[in-house]
Amino acid sequence: MIDYHIHTNHSIDASGTLAEYCQKALEIGLEEICFTNHCELDPQRNDSFMRFNGNPEPVSNAGLINLQHEVFEVRDRFARKGLSVKFGIEVGYDPGIENKLQAITTGLELDFVIGAIHCLDHICIDSSRECGKYFDMHDVEEYISNYLNAVSNLVSSKLFDSIAHIDVYKKYGLGYYGEEIYNAPREVMAQIFKSIKENGIAMEINTAGMRFMSEFYPAPTLMKMAREHGLERITIGSDSHKPADLGKDLEPAIAYLRSYGFHTIYRFENRRPIALRI
Ligand SMILES: [Zn+2]
Ligand SMILES: [Zn+2]
Repeated sequence: MIDYHIHTNHSIDASGTLAEYCQKALEIGLEEICFTNHCELDPQRNDSFMRFNGNPEPVSNAGLINLQHEVFEVRDRFARKGLSVKFGIEVGYDPGIENKLQAITTGLELDFVIGAIHCLDHICIDSSRECGKYFDMHDVEEYISNYLNAVSNLVSSKLFDSIAHIDVYKKYGLGYYGEEIYNAPREVMAQIFKSIKENGIAMEINTAGMRFMSEFYPAPTLMKMAREHGLERITIGSDSHKPADLGKDLEPAIAYLRSYGFHTIYRFENRRPIALRI
């Protein structure tokens, strides 16, 4: 089994060292893990940080080079024990970050880059503290429409290998708006799936949804549509923010994928997809 979405204590909202995660991966029998720490680049927010030796520092090229050294160190150390370790990042997408992303990733040997929508109008809708501020200003149709528009921009930016937790907007939206949160317009979703396929990026099955709301990201209706639109490239991750969550619900996620007719997941090396039969 592989886990392609992991945050260590380099992310300001996560705990656990690289080595602790590697050790845990061996204990639970994972064959490959990919570290994907947060890279939030929105200049209008104050969360563009990474933590080194316990201290938050603004996300920078030098910081990412340091992180790469640390990842390569555990990669080499744990390769001898039979664990494969990959180097990735999770980027919060906002139109306009392209140049900054290019600048901070120069010289890096990244295996995998996930794109995520965490913010709308610079407000984090993936935060229990902040989301109410956004929800109070928008009805449910506007919220869904703005979120999906952001997803469409992310997909067509061609910057990413996979889209993270594609329906994360439901996480706090369900509690605020109720079941209407599931009424994403089918024609808009169809267009997004078409674009995901055309742009050759992957869609992630993210098991954190199981821990927050007893449902994977993406929800069953979206899985069905994804299959109908011929999506093939799938990545899989726990989105763990602490070692205890590493690998959580990956086996049920594989069963979930199979139940919709998916028989392949993808790992990445130097940003090239490699198919794995499931
Ligand atoms: Zn995320
Ligand atoms: Zn994440």
